[in-house]
Amino acid sequence: MADTVKLVKKISRLAEGKKKLRFMEVCGTHTVAIFRSGIRQILSENVELVSGPGCPVCVTNDDYIDKAVEYSSRKDFIVVTFGDMLKVPGSRSSLSAAIAEGANVRIVYSPLDCLKLAKENPRKKLIFLAVGFETTAPTQAATVLAAKAQGIKNLFMLSAQKLVPPALKFLLGDAKVKVDGFLLPGHVAVVIGANAFNFLAEEFQMPSAIGGFEAEEILTALASLLEQIDGGKISVANDYRSVVKAEGNLSAKKILAQVYEVADVEWRGIGKIPASGLKMRDEFADFDIERVEPVELERVEKKSACRCGEVLRGVINPTECPLFGKACQPFHAIGPCMVSVEGVCAAWFKYGGNNFKW
Ligand code: SF4
Repeated sequence: MADTVKLVKKISRLAEGKKKLRFMEVCGTHTVAIFRSGIRQILSENVELVSGPGCPVCVTNDDYIDKAVEYSSRKDFIVVTFGDMLKVPGSRSSLSAAIAEGANVRIVYSPLDCLKLAKENPRKKLIFLAVGFETTAPTQAATVLAAKAQGIKNLFMLSAQKLVPPALKFLLGDAKVKVDGFLLPGHVAVVIGANAFNFLAEEFQMPSAIGGFEAEEILTALASLLEQIDGGKISVANDYRSVVKAEGNLSAKKILAQVYEVADVEWRGIGKIPASGLKMRDEFADFDIERVEPVELERVEKKSACRCGEVLRGVINPTECPLFGKACQPFHAIGPCMVSVEGVCAAWFKYGGNNFKW
């Protein structure tokens, strides 16, 4: 507690007399940790925290959900997923609605659970919804390698993994995105390494700090950002040194590179970002359901006032969306940012961001 007070005082002292500063916490885990620990309420008035695109469920495109729903409705398939994908709306439906109509969907806590499920259901084709960032992609790659080694032929991936650094580069090229520093996700940095973010300082002169997820760790990283702005060297401060190495986790990176290659991918509400995702290499095409048994679906264009695209870029706060807390609430979400526990809108709703009352 004493350290927390010292850090809050340090942040206040460094922020004093400066223009209003906007720091973006890139990942949803930070967003929730910041709300839960009350950090927003104790920061100086001229330090504003905005959320970024780091909730994997939120940035998964609606046509991906449409494909997952379509596979789940076919008799010979079982769709396997983490629970937070169930309520995410596609352009037509959601997995939870498909389950109500008899679709075969199973929830797991690790993609490795699919190996056992595939063996128990030899007449079914299992599709794992491989959604996530660099944090979860290595386990998904390890699952593919294990399936290959064990001769499992009925397990497939529907891939939508995304990469954080290209998204940040993309945001910095968007004139509507106004940030003075990035609070970088510690768990992503554990895998890819602190050096993967060096371009932020070298190319963009953007203050950045890698932070853990406890209150003191977040405050330490915020203080680092202010020190850089207060005349220090612009850099990528590694404030999560206990677990983040400069080069990252070499074993995890090796597995990733073995199974996946980098690809241009769509981010929901943002659009296509160059080199910001992963697709399976040709050697593993037998595990890629989109190559083994593709589905072509006509996209249903829906008119919606949902402003997730702007929320995920930190252009607006959730309360600026006209649907927030009214038509859109966690139990009847209109957009993906209200579905996931790490979604920005869901966090604002739950914790009353900017004194929102419901
Ligand atoms: S409050 Fe709902 S509708 Fe509005 S941006 Fe968030 S998820 Fe979309």
